[in-house]
Amino acid sequence: MSTQTQKTYKIRKDDLVMVMTGKEKGKTGKVMSINPDKEKVLVESVNMVKSCQKPSQKMPQGGIVEKEAPLAISNVKMICGKCKVAVRVGKKLLTDGTKVRFCKKCGEVLDK
Ligand SMILES: [Zn+2]
Repeated sequence: MSTQTQKTYKIRKDDLVMVMTGKEKGKTGKVMSINPDKEKVLVESVNMVKSCQKPSQKMPQGGIVEKEAPLAISNVKMICGKCKVAVRVGKKLLTDGTKVRFCKKCGEVLDK
């Protein structure tokens, strides 16, 4: 038994997720990064916000750029590649002792 108190999340980097609530509801994307301390997740091309970019070598004039803003981890759900919808994720132990995540709907193992 682990005595670690740190909360673990079922969502991981590179997972395909769907936004379940808020103005980005229904959008899907790949998880770019997770911040467990703040319980935030960055999803590719989701929750884009405009921000001012100072002039740089890449963009000599500066200007407005769009980038992803973090979402609450609790607002996104993993998408099952088989069901093609956002599903509840369970965890189970394989016979060889590996912990994997699986889709509670169809039973498909979500960890490759
Ligand atoms: Zn499934």
